[in-house]
Amino acid sequence: MKLILLGAPGAGKGTQSAKISEKYNIPAIATGDILRGAIKEGTELGLTAKGYMDAGKLVPDEIVVGIIKDYLSTEACKNGFILDGFPRSIPQAEALDAMGVKIDVVLSIEVPDDKIIARMSGRRVCHCGASYHVDYIPPKVEGICDKCGAELYIRADDCAETVANRLKTFHAQTEPLKTYYEAKGILATVEGQEEVADTTALVFAALDRVNA
Ligand code: ADP
Ligand code: ZN
Repeated sequence: MKLILLGAPGAGKGTQSAKISEKYNIPAIATGDILRGAIKEGTELGLTAKGYMDAGKLVPDEIVVGIIKDYLSTEACKNGFILDGFPRSIPQAEALDAMGVKIDVVLSIEVPDDKIIARMSGRRVCHCGASYHVDYIPPKVEGICDKCGAELYIRADDCAETVANRLKTFHAQTEPLKTYYEAKGILATVEGQEEVADTTALVFAALDRVNA
């Protein structure tokens, strides 16, 4: 199964992507994680990306398209994959089409802006990729990752001002992808729920319909 996850920043793409990856045994490719990895390593890519990310803007299409091309050509992606955070603009979607990649389903996780803002202000993340929320998905021990025991931190771009910009960018550049994929007849939507497990149930139900 070749799948794209769409949704506002903080809609829960990363969380659901992990569940799908486990159930269907396909790798998840998260452009945001890849870019943050590059920033941490201090590579040239990371240096370029950081300015855009901290401003809540999209990293230029050529850069992310190049990253995706490399990943999709690997053996691990042969039997399918989940794209989490790509494409994020019409030109990126067109670049994916131009690669000859045939996507089975584009799943949009819908969450209203006011909920997004509440979620991001409580988000805490771990370097291992795990993600928590102080109220909705608290770790067993406050401030500590359940999975690896490391200390949790707030993502640099989760500050209120950057969140507002990321939402603006989402509505202007990413949301039009819904119409783009609807026209291709491969768009499915689910309403993001308060409980992660409830959203996962809706996500699995939507994917089962596609695979039926
Ligand atoms: P979120 O979906 O919560 O905003 P991500 O980790 O997916 O978080 O993305 C964080 C940032 O990384 C984005 O705000 C953007 O600057 C950059 N980014 C991630 N994916 C892309 C992409 N496909 N194109 C351009 N920029 C991207
Ligand atoms: Zn961890």
